[in-house]
Amino acid sequence: MSGVGCMNHNREGSNLSTTSNALAAVNSKPRSHSINYVSSDYESLDYDHYESELTVREEKLNGYKTVVATNVIRWLIYFSIAICTAAVGIFIDTIIEYLCNWKFQSIRNCIDVKHSTMECLIIWILFTVIPTIIGCCVVLFMEPSAAGSGIPFVISYLNGVRIPRMTAVRCLLVKVISVICVCAAGLGGGKEGPLIHIGAMVGGSVVEAWWKGFRSGPGRKIIGPLQNDQERRDMMAAGAAAGLSAAFGSPVGGTLMSLEEGTSFWSSSLMWKVFFCAAIAFPTYNAGKNILYTNNTNPSESVHSKSIYFFGKFNENTIYFSYSEFPIFIIFGIFGGVLGALFVNINYRLSIFRMKHIISNRKKLLESVFVAVFVAIVNLTTMILLNNCQKKLEISSFNVVQMFCPAGSYNEISSFWLHTQEENIRSLFHYPIEAYSIFSLLVYCVTYFILTELTVGLNMSAGLFLPSLLIGAAWGRIASKVIHYYSPGIIGNDPGKYALLGAAAQLGGIVRATISLTVVFIEATGNVQFLLPLMITLFTAKWTGDFFTDGIYEMQIKLSGVPILISEPPPLTSDITTEDFMSDTVCAIPHILMVGKLVDILNTTKHNGFPVVASKVCYCRTTIEHKCYGLLKGFILRSQLNVILEHNLYLSPLHDENYYTKLELIRKSTFICDDTLLFQKLKVKEDERSIVIDLRPYMNSAPYIVRLETSLSRTFRLFRTLGLRHIVVINNTNEVVGIITRKDLAKFRLWRKAATMGLKEVNVY
Ligand code: ATP
Repeated sequence: MSGVGCMNHNREGSNLSTTSNALAAVNSKPRSHSINYVSSDYESLDYDHYESELTVREEKLNGYKTVVATNVIRWLIYFSIAICTAAVGIFIDTIIEYLCNWKFQSIRNCIDVKHSTMECLIIWILFTVIPTIIGCCVVLFMEPSAAGSGIPFVISYLNGVRIPRMTAVRCLLVKVISVICVCAAGLGGGKEGPLIHIGAMVGGSVVEAWWKGFRSGPGRKIIGPLQNDQERRDMMAAGAAAGLSAAFGSPVGGTLMSLEEGTSFWSSSLMWKVFFCAAIAFPTYNAGKNILYTNNTNPSESVHSKSIYFFGKFNENTIYFSYSEFPIFIIFGIFGGVLGALFVNINYRLSIFRMKHIISNRKKLLESVFVAVFVAIVNLTTMILLNNCQKKLEISSFNVVQMFCPAGSYNEISSFWLHTQEENIRSLFHYPIEAYSIFSLLVYCVTYFILTELTVGLNMSAGLFLPSLLIGAAWGRIASKVIHYYSPGIIGNDPGKYALLGAAAQLGGIVRATISLTVVFIEATGNVQFLLPLMITLFTAKWTGDFFTDGIYEMQIKLSGVPILISEPPPLTSDITTEDFMSDTVCAIPHILMVGKLVDILNTTKHNGFPVVASKVCYCRTTIEHKCYGLLKGFILRSQLNVILEHNLYLSPLHDENYYTKLELIRKSTFICDDTLLFQKLKVKEDERSIVIDLRPYMNSAPYIVRLETSLSRTFRLFRTLGLRHIVVINNTNEVVGIITRKDLAKFRLWRKAATMGLKEVNVY
């Protein structure tokens, strides 16, 4: 059977393409500490619908009633994802608030009542170090994949890359514990980013719980069509949106963030589902918090802090803008972009340093403890050294210390360190102009920048949304004071406007999202008037930041070698065609073959998918450049072949009675991926080797194909928008001549310097 061309293929060594312009064909073998490699550790997901004789028969037998029932269940799953995400958010918030209050009260007590600085330092260090050790240990020793904000993982997963353990329940639990510890310790990390990851994890876990719940009985017919990677991806996208919606009280912003940062495929029905989930999560979260806060001892404060606007409602009479301020908005955007790029650059260097020198768990834990002690010492020393006194404002909450200040006033810096991040952001946006001096704001801005840089790469679940907002709001407020000094007419007595724009510019400069962030800011402030200034600032910040570096998430994704397909195909690639980068030694499988032959193929190769070709190769003409492997009949995955052999599915023909069992086994194999099972050596009895298998009922009979002449950019778009894992390359007569996987495409990345220097070909280190 000449259609079979299987050799032991080196997983890492496919064609490294020749590039004709400023592109780097990135090595698939992990090179140390570079953003220019693609790791072979990550498997791809297949978001293409599995269509075979089995699924067609399923649809026919199930009928319309089952379609309706499946739809109802689907919406119920989305509903339960929203409720569970909101519940987890409430739990995290409540614990953080309780722990922070305990910490702040103890510190206030020893400074203002006992007047003991040394005791205060010890208490402060203990309250910072103990949660840090807990938060770091759970990550290091229980679930290392819970480290960081998790947003790069969510982006990668939605893009089509399987991130190991991303939806594991243990990861969810560890993330929750770690994020509580980060916030309670007062490190420079927030809970909003992790809440997005938590939402996605809840999405993945809830859908699996439903799958398990309906595994047997009549329900299995209904849940069957929902059991695939594509449905799970949509539910995780909805969970991520619900997380952001709960965190910022921004359902539309959450939906748009899911679109802008995550999903590569978007449809109106998906938008509906994601929005539904985000819209349910926000009021649930809000209602839950309000119920908890009505029992609070201080109801007046609860009303203010739990208003439905996360940033507090801006006064529409004082927050206005004139067109003459547009240059100021642009300058804010440029400044935010430059600072954001600086943040990303330092973060990149720190990550490389950590990858090289902080490798063992002991060192990682020691690093976290060091940062925690540093945070406590910096907080207290800034309070002692900068004894700026501020008259007590009516609106200021009670968590401030008098320290060495005269009666009726308080230590200004203390209001930054003894409040939660949410309280700080609201005070920076809403307190009158005299509430903070330029000096205190500057000290806070610089120290918080450093603390955030140090915290973000620790082995803990720390996000950077709120820390970035705080840094930006601080320098925005400094700018507003300067502007007020020279031109009081522009801002009147309300510095909140520029604090808001500073926050937007800083976050936009780091994260590089635009539309979604604009909407998040609008929803979190309840002020539509400010749409235009926010848009101008965010767009300018993004463009400026992009001029210098990638966004932080893109940088982190590249650094971990995830084979992600970015939103646009690499530029200047229309002259590269599939034949330049496909694998042209294809392992194809005839649609009818003997069990022994199939087992040998699986045992001697490492590929995850195989084109299925006609057994009799009638028309296969060898071209000068490429060998051909037979007429294309379909495509089949290794996991599906494993199941067919393991459960002897080939022994019985396809009847209506057994197709459900077969379908379920095949379906399960496509979304459960365990490498050790997938690549284990298969054994069959000698007498079974000669049994003939017909693969047609199981294979995908209409796989996506491209022709030899298709350009790289076209193939790239197909892969990205359809979420494909493999594509078969055929010649003019429908004969298989090559195969492409997502990693073959992910190797193409624009290397900035190469692009500007106009190099012909770049060897990436
Ligand atoms: P993933 O593991 O996510 O499926 P991958 O690229 O690692 O992606 P493999 O199947 O291991 O998938 O493929 C490794 C290399 O072998 C790729 O360059 C791909 O083009 C090539 N390849 C994939 N399938 C076949 C096949 N059936 N025959 C020959 N080469 C193949």
